[in-house]
Amino acid sequence: MSTSTSAKSANGTASDRTVILVTGGTGLVGEAIRWVIDNDLDPRFRRREGEEWIFLSSKDGDLMSWDDTARVFDKYRPTNVLHLAAMVGGLFKNMKYKLDFYRNNMLMTDNVLHNAHLKDVNKVISCLSTCVFPDKTPYPIDETMVHSGPPHDSNFGYAYAKRMVDVANRAYHEQYGRQFTSVIPTNIFGPHDNWHLDDAHVIPALVHKCYLAKKNNTPFIVAGSGTPLRQFIYSRDLARLFVWVLRDYQEIDPIILSVGEEDEITIRQVADTIVDKLAFKGDYRWDSTKADGQLKKTASNAKLRKYLPDFKFTPFDQAMEETVKWFLENYETLRK
Ligand code: NAP
Ligand code: GDP
Repeated sequence: MSTSTSAKSANGTASDRTVILVTGGTGLVGEAIRWVIDNDLDPRFRRREGEEWIFLSSKDGDLMSWDDTARVFDKYRPTNVLHLAAMVGGLFKNMKYKLDFYRNNMLMTDNVLHNAHLKDVNKVISCLSTCVFPDKTPYPIDETMVHSGPPHDSNFGYAYAKRMVDVANRAYHEQYGRQFTSVIPTNIFGPHDNWHLDDAHVIPALVHKCYLAKKNNTPFIVAGSGTPLRQFIYSRDLARLFVWVLRDYQEIDPIILSVGEEDEITIRQVADTIVDKLAFKGDYRWDSTKADGQLKKTASNAKLRKYLPDFKFTPFDQAMEETVKWFLENYETLRK
């Protein structure tokens, strides 16, 4: 890996500061990055000497507010920004709050990217999602297809707002030479997720529902048909890849960060794994009146594999084991 970039001060002279500002630093991905830079066994992904990492929460400033965002940038004067903060949620939250997903995420993107531009940040990495891709599309999906057709109806507010990150990145690059880029993770899970029963993504929502079903001796009811397919990435694997992107990925175009197509699994397999990990023996059923969402969004990780042919993803079963253990150990204080 190359050494990290140095900052340019206002008068144009290079300084040695490396201040990495992580927006959304208290979320699923932010906490995983914090864990990886301090604990990973592979030195390529650990914090380097002289690097200062700042992990922001919404309490440090509301990134939907221009003034708060400007204040945060003036306070920390970052050389690099990992922009994770967003309004985030699973299928059912996306279906309920399409306008909020659109506006809130557009505002955060614009405030963060424009402050990064005005304050001469060397590199910004923002986070898209495989939800942004067209609903009707050839498979596998790749990075060239972000704008190739309408996204799935269930989450068009979120999807269009996230697509605009890519538009902004290209425009900042072409007009000002900025190095603003983005990554496209598939469905993420791990410690520090949001475990809300109605609004969360499928894995945390179902872990929480199954836990309560076992505790209260009630049925474990899973939404939909169980047939949709998803590629799941463990948050700590994604965090390692984020550190690699920060240090070594030089393109403006996005890169999909995903396990391979062969690792795509059904929602039924997800629910079965949760039942197994929580040793749930009670009544387990499907509610087919609830939405399935997009049937699949199979993404290719060929571009990632060209850069990192040897990167090892944590096996799904092991990552689920660690996630459920973390959930049980932290039940009293987790986001739910
Ligand atoms: P998360 O766990 O919900 O965390 C969201 C983070 O954003 C929190 O740190 C939150 O701060 C912060 N935040 C939210 N609104 C804010 C505001 N108005 N001002 C300042 N900070 C705000 O999200 P995540 O799952 O880590 O997602 C990280 C990124 O990955 C997002 O850009 C998301 O779109 C993308 N992504 C997620 C998934 C997934 O499956 N989770 C999949 C693909 C892409 P507080 O803790 O203070 O609330
Ligand atoms: P998506 O990948 O963006 O659609 O997001 P999710 O993580 O919300 O996964 C949605 C898929 O999981 C759909 O097929 C849902 O029908 C299914 N699912 C089953 N039970 C649940 C649940 O309790 N919450 C969520 N969010 N999805 C569920």
